Amino acid sequence: MHGVYFTLSQRTFVGMGAKESLESSVGSALFSKAQRYVRKKMVDRKSLYGGKIQEFIGCAVEERNVVIKRAVFLDRDGVLSVEGGDYVTRPELLRVLPRVGEAIGRLNRADFRVIIVTNQSAVGRGLMTVGDLEEVHARLRAEIASEGGRIDAVYFCPHRPEEGCSCRKPAPGMLLRAAEEYDIELPRSYMVGDSPKDIAAGAAVGSRTVLVLSGHTRAYEPSRFAAPQPECVCADLWNAVEWILSVEAADSGS
Ligand SMILES: [Zn+2]
Repeated sequence: MHGVYFTLSQRTFVGMGAKESLESSVGSALFSKAQRYVRKKMVDRKSLYGGKIQEFIGCAVEERNVVIKRAVFLDRDGVLSVEGGDYVTRPELLRVLPRVGEAIGRLNRADFRVIIVTNQSAVGRGLMTVGDLEEVHARLRAEIASEGGRIDAVYFCPHRPEEGCSCRKPAPGMLLRAAEEYDIELPRSYMVGDSPKDIAAGAAVGSRTVLVLSGHTRAYEPSRFAAPQPECVCADLWNAVEWILSVEAADSGS
């Protein structure tokens, strides 16, 4: 017996030969999900069916092994890097906070997508180009990788506040777009940030929210968070990850 395999969300999925038999072996719901990934170019069509023929391994396929649905959305300045008051317009101005890469590695291993959502109005103000921003993010990714962490995606809003866009936090546009592009269940996800804007964006999409005190907010004052309040207040990302993993452990045990 032969089959094809394809990779979704970095996991190998094994099914049988042609489109019809692959569909019948994994179920139509899962198969249409796989086709959605093809449309989004997260997996190429050739490897979905008719591509690489392998010996069929015959393992039972469980949906949870195919698609990772949860994410931890992270604000950048004050959560991952030092919030210095000035715009980080060049990679050498970026100062990554202690244990950030290590904390992200724990989220990776717990099957969370790790996605940065950051307001970068310095672009809209003409203080830096998108290319400059990408260089800053390349450095951020490299430093996180050196501690064993992986960033799955970075979304940024380049607009100025007065432009009234739908992506600048507290608006939830970046989270909604990421959810669509990565098939993320927002109510099973988390937003970690250092300001009321981050908490509002996370709450707007029904994600759980964590405030960290490593940036803009040094002491938690509930009055600054008109509504909603963060669900958890932590010293830094490492502690936020501890809390997230403890919530997940409690949920899976119940
Ligand atoms: Zn925007």
